[in-house]
Amino acid sequence: MLTHLAGDTYVLTGPVNIGLYIHADGSGTAVDTGLDDGSGRRLLKALREKGITLAHIINTHSHADHCGGNAFVQKRTSASIYATPIEAAIIENPYLEPFYLYGGDPMSGLQTKHLMAKASRVDKKIKEVPSKLGPLSIIPLPGHAPGQIGVLTPDNVLFCADAFFPSHTLDKYYLPYYAQVAPALTTLDQLMDFGADIYVPSHGCVSTDITAALTANKNRLDEITDRINSLLARPRSREQIVTWFYREQEINSTLAQYFLSTAAVSAHLTYLSEQGQIRPEIKAGTLMWVKN
Ligand SMILES: [Zn+2]
Repeated sequence: MLTHLAGDTYVLTGPVNIGLYIHADGSGTAVDTGLDDGSGRRLLKALREKGITLAHIINTHSHADHCGGNAFVQKRTSASIYATPIEAAIIENPYLEPFYLYGGDPMSGLQTKHLMAKASRVDKKIKEVPSKLGPLSIIPLPGHAPGQIGVLTPDNVLFCADAFFPSHTLDKYYLPYYAQVAPALTTLDQLMDFGADIYVPSHGCVSTDITAALTANKNRLDEITDRINSLLARPRSREQIVTWFYREQEINSTLAQYFLSTAAVSAHLTYLSEQGQIRPEIKAGTLMWVKN
């Protein structure tokens, strides 16, 4: 069921919140489509009950749980799909998501619907961000994904994708998946002063005040960077660092989560090396990270 947020802005809550803005002509723009055919079906049912024709889908980023309903919806409506170029490449070629996480032909355990959506066609690339799509403002939110965007409606509601995670996610996984640390920190800072009336993260609850969540995510990123830096008092490989966090935090994860955690650590290693603090060295056939 659609929940009314303000003016013409609604949300279909679920494991992944789907946004909806209803235009003056009665057509709708959805923000993301959820994980799979089931979430696409739920979205179309909610629109049908309200007598709304879906005109556009804006994908905030290419992760399977955000664009996995696209194919179902695209087959049944004439809605056009929008995404930024780098995210569009993955939405159209979903093999790329497990491929980049693994770094080669991904094992079947990574080619699941949670990491590999059904392919869909992106009709329009959003090449400039920030920009406007009719009455909607496209807001850059890079970090969790390089081309991630948010959508601000004229009702001052911001659909903010996976720019930050709820505290229970931070508790559960410890290593939140941010593909790029520096852009993620900038995004969190910018959201601190954004001034929307209502924020809708893709995971978690709708909120009028996200200060505590932003601070928790920023602190966690800083904490992980600092701890990796300390761990590198002696050289370690990326995998040894992941193992260290898994043991310390008693993380029990799936194969998919392991690769997401490993990629998150990779991003912190790049961040530290860009700051000139560490460097990679291949020692006896193992890529080790060492202090400068
Ligand atoms: Zn995501």
